[in-house]
Amino acid sequence: MSTYRTEGVILRRSDFGEANLLLHIYTRKFGKVEAVGKSARKAKGKLKGHLEPFLYADFVLVHGKKMDTVANSFVLDPFLCLRSSFDPILAASVIAEIADRMTVEGYHDERVFELLLSSLAFLNQETGAEKRNLWLLILFFEVNFLALSGFAPQADKCVFCSEKMAPGKNYFSFALGGVLDAQCAAKIPDAIFVDDDAIKLLRFLAIDSGTTDYKKAIGEKLVCLRKLNIKNEALFRSVLLMKNFIEFNIDRKINSLDTFLNFAREKI
Ligand SMILES: [Zn+2]
Repeated sequence: MSTYRTEGVILRRSDFGEANLLLHIYTRKFGKVEAVGKSARKAKGKLKGHLEPFLYADFVLVHGKKMDTVANSFVLDPFLCLRSSFDPILAASVIAEIADRMTVEGYHDERVFELLLSSLAFLNQETGAEKRNLWLLILFFEVNFLALSGFAPQADKCVFCSEKMAPGKNYFSFALGGVLDAQCAAKIPDAIFVDDDAIKLLRFLAIDSGTTDYKKAIGEKLVCLRKLNIKNEALFRSVLLMKNFIEFNIDRKINSLDTFLNFAREKI
């Protein structure tokens, strides 16, 4: 049996059989991997506590005929601060669920791994006091994850006529995947109104697709995130817009995002 080793982040875990866990891990070298953690739910199992959700670890995995298994997990960062308060946990659940729902086993893009890891590290530095940073981080993750998955929301030019967008009455179409001026919106059945600040925010958060050092670009954007001056209402509307856009594209709900919206809306 061949083994392989890679850093990874646990996106999802569920009970599997009597004492096992089924894990979805996004790894640096192999992209999304599904693997079984044998006896991981036994009190004395050696993997006990090493396969927590959002955990960043160095994994040793074994190829199996039907399924791969986790032979070992060396924790690199348990993101303990993140786990100590409710809102950052919810925000981490949102990004993990989006990453899990929008990727299939074997889907590999190292930039996705960097985006995930940096986003979790950002949440780990949040005490939970500044709720809007959690909202901004979710939006930042959504916009850039969509772009890496080939669903970048077009926010600079009209998605119908390709003219540069001007401030004013503008719209968004889920079916066409971007913004529309009022004239074009009249021809598109699913066009909904979107305010200028929301469009500006989407544009600002997007990392340039042509960037050569993606990790550095993420770091620079995240530094700006905490200083960003944006109205809460525009932020809320942008998060809702991207939620609906993602759900339109994957044709299913992102459950943790509903929970986040219910719990966190009053707090920003
Ligand atoms: Zn147009």
